[in-house]
Amino acid sequence: MGASFLIMPQQVCIFCERGRPLVTITKEHLFSRWVDRILTPELLGPDRSFERTTAGPDGVATSKTWPAEVIAAIEAAAVCGASPDGCNGLWMSALGGQVKHLLEPMTLGKPKTLTPAEQLTIATWAAMKSMVLEYVWGSEQVIVMPQAARTFVFDHQRPPESMQIRIAAIESQGRPALIFRRVYQLRLKSSSNAALPGFASCSTFVLGCFVVQTYGTSTLSPAVPPHPHGRSYLVINPPPGDDISWPPPVLLDDAGLDRFAHPLQPVTGD
Ligand SMILES: [Zn+2]
Repeated sequence: MGASFLIMPQQVCIFCERGRPLVTITKEHLFSRWVDRILTPELLGPDRSFERTTAGPDGVATSKTWPAEVIAAIEAAAVCGASPDGCNGLWMSALGGQVKHLLEPMTLGKPKTLTPAEQLTIATWAAMKSMVLEYVWGSEQVIVMPQAARTFVFDHQRPPESMQIRIAAIESQGRPALIFRRVYQLRLKSSSNAALPGFASCSTFVLGCFVVQTYGTSTLSPAVPPHPHGRSYLVINPPPGDDISWPPPVLLDDAGLDRFAHPLQPVTGD
């Protein structure tokens, strides 16, 4: 199944597919208001901005930066939430409440040990955010994740097992709140790997010192074994099953973040 290039007006919720009144998701929703309360202008200085980097299937990367004041621009109505059992009002906000307590200290750079349950909370939140991100960042965005992946999150309250999610830590020079999204078109080299998904999407969220990244494809693949942790990142999905201590041994700097946010660079060469 291919990814869709045309964004049709959403008639149903992207998670539960119920045709209900949809709430408008804004860029501000992506960086929740609790992030604003932690990363205050006093803490960050006046130059806080939000930066978007996307790379389309043609491999051309484009960047766009907004000053903090304009990020609340309305982008899309994608999830249901007007009723008490709507996705936004129910499980999405509950997840946001759970993750807030976990991420607050890490956003400010305080070391934290994460249990498997806490890793799952962060991973589910990151998966949900990256799925919403596909719909709210402009009509030129490619929708990579299949409906089955969003349905899985809605039904099971956990990320698809094939979605790779990892966390890192950064010492940034003035880029405290960032979202990167890259779309990769995975081309078949020969008939031998015909099962290769058509597209992959890599979303990287930077909240202060904390970095979380999801990598998913246009096919909902079977579960894969957990990947090993790296020197500069910790894998939280597929679940490694043990407590992990954040931050990892090596902190990212700004150049390291750019490399981290482009995991297929060794393949694409750009
Ligand atoms: Zn819904």
